[in-house]
Amino acid sequence: MKHTSDPFRPSRRTALIGGLSAFALLGAAPAAFAAQKLNIVATTGMIADAARRVGGDLVEVRSLMGSGVDPHSYRQTRSDIVALTRADLVLWHGLYLEAQMERFFEDLGRKRAVVAVADALPKDDLLSHPDYEGRYDPHVWMDPKTWIAVVDEVTRALTEAHPAGAETFAQNAATYRAELEQLATYAAETVGQVPESQRVLVTAHDAFSYFGRAFGFEVIGIQGISTNSEAGLNRISSLVDELVEREIGAVFVETSVSDRNMRALVEGAAARGHEVVIGGSLYSDAMGEPGSYEGTYIGMIDHNVTTIARALGAPVAAGGMNGKLVQGS
Ligand SMILES: [Zn+2]
Repeated sequence: MKHTSDPFRPSRRTALIGGLSAFALLGAAPAAFAAQKLNIVATTGMIADAARRVGGDLVEVRSLMGSGVDPHSYRQTRSDIVALTRADLVLWHGLYLEAQMERFFEDLGRKRAVVAVADALPKDDLLSHPDYEGRYDPHVWMDPKTWIAVVDEVTRALTEAHPAGAETFAQNAATYRAELEQLATYAAETVGQVPESQRVLVTAHDAFSYFGRAFGFEVIGIQGISTNSEAGLNRISSLVDELVEREIGAVFVETSVSDRNMRALVEGAAARGHEVVIGGSLYSDAMGEPGSYEGTYIGMIDHNVTTIARALGAPVAAGGMNGKLVQGS
């Protein structure tokens, strides 16, 4: 970012004439400017959003994984490594979500402030999964109430890294928490209007178990808990049987997972004379485009809740909780 009144212009002119000392000045000035804010690097967009909301003007946050990026298979790039090693604070999810980066963060943690924000959740609050022996299901953001506890952990990490900001962080966190509680209420009321027999959520991978627990839905993922395992033909055909027998009318694709398996399900059911529609695209492991409503955690969950409720027969407004959702995308 350039300043409108460029304070470096005189030295830049000197640099053209004068050489080394001016270059040194140029190098030092932007660093001093950046040092005013706590420089945070977060892995997922959801964590970055929490850090921005809690940190406010006191932080500069970079998210490694953009919209549509799958955290189970993501590996750090060269520029990620540069950003991570320069950060004042690194926030990652943990619970084996960033499976390919775990070793890297363990090493980095010996030199930098590195916090796995979901690892701090009480184990009693976590779900296990048959695919994931000895580990927990990492997709805790799918339940806004569980996510509030993660936001608390983000607040703790920011306060520890920058104690002078404690009061600001606490105020911002309280404001954000109130919005998240409102989101949890909207979600419960909205999906609560889905007829009981239709409360089955069929998705590409097992990202929605916390959603199911929070809102009383049965959740069926074609792939297991991580996207790293391929769904076999047997799995697809047994799911087609289930869709036909239980007269399930809608399935959902995910923005960060290929829709190939969902299309196979729809075609398989059609061949058996049962119509299944794709009920919409859900944000499972990544948020929407930066700068959009769906590019925030609240917008992401609002989109999911509203899309699921409408596709499964609830009379819900298309604009969602705040009237901000863009439908049909
Ligand atoms: Zn996932």
